Amino acid sequence: MKRYCEECDREVETKVITRRESYKVCGEVIEVDAQILICAECGEDFFCEELDNATLVIAYNEYRRKHKLLLPEEIKKIREQYGLSQRSFAKLLNWGDKTIYRYENGSIQDKAHNSLLLFLRDPENMKTYLVENEISLDARQRVKLLDVVEKLEQDREYRMSRRFLDSFFSKIPCEENGFRAFDYEKFCAMVLFFAHKSGELLKTKLMKLLNYSDMVFYKENGISISGAKYAHLPYGPVPENFDILLGTMAADHIAHIEILYDNGYEKHHVIPDCDIPEGILSEEECAVLERIYEKFAEFGSVDISNYSHRERGYNSTKQGDIISYAYAKDIQLN
Ligand SMILES: [Zn+2]
Repeated sequence: MKRYCEECDREVETKVITRRESYKVCGEVIEVDAQILICAECGEDFFCEELDNATLVIAYNEYRRKHKLLLPEEIKKIREQYGLSQRSFAKLLNWGDKTIYRYENGSIQDKAHNSLLLFLRDPENMKTYLVENEISLDARQRVKLLDVVEKLEQDREYRMSRRFLDSFFSKIPCEENGFRAFDYEKFCAMVLFFAHKSGELLKTKLMKLLNYSDMVFYKENGISISGAKYAHLPYGPVPENFDILLGTMAADHIAHIEILYDNGYEKHHVIPDCDIPEGILSEEECAVLERIYEKFAEFGSVDISNYSHRERGYNSTKQGDIISYAYAKDIQLN
């Protein structure tokens, strides 16, 4: 870019340099690395609006960082997560009409406003705020906002429960999980498949059905369906951390266990709480589940337990061991 330089008294080449400069932001001196346009010949400064604005933004953000203030884009994100316009958001906070607009466009917010925004970033706090304050939003907007808040809270609970669950399962595919990282969605879909098909499904039988489904699918495709590991326990193979999974599934309203007493025996029934989700299991996976279901349809829990005890994978491991999918090749279902 060529410019006229008064010092050199002619058109000159320009260049951009970085220089430590002081800016005044809200009465406070802030030092920043400013980009400055100068004459390539004599080094005289030129005014450049674009660079000057960019430096001002840097100075403002430095001020925000120093005072732990939200950035304009963070304020925008808070507003947008609640699906509010700038005007409605300002109204909700009992601020002037243009306040949010100004903050999102770079004006520095005052400390009290910043604290309220930080507080309301958390949906749970937004709910408290809505309940405890005289809100100037109309009834329709209020209902809509409460809906959004509700949904954000559920999403967060879901994410937290998933993080908790993830901590129990390895994400590395290996022979113990049938070369698939554990897939909670698929596992739930399998449980729901069997729970819906069976008139009455006992927990002990479910464990065997899951194990045979994963093993047989692995035998035929070289990968398991759910990525669950199965441990050798006295009554047969059991999905690793099965009780944690059942607890999570109950909390997620997917399926739960109902205990019935029958002649002094506890019977753990698996009760589905929702439909089988679509698009989670492939046709091939469903076909295997169907075959396993048919094969063991007439088997009681004891029958299937005895049957599974004959498998080489079970016989070659001892209590507590993980039964590798490598044994899947020995399974004969006929
Ligand atoms: Zn010059």
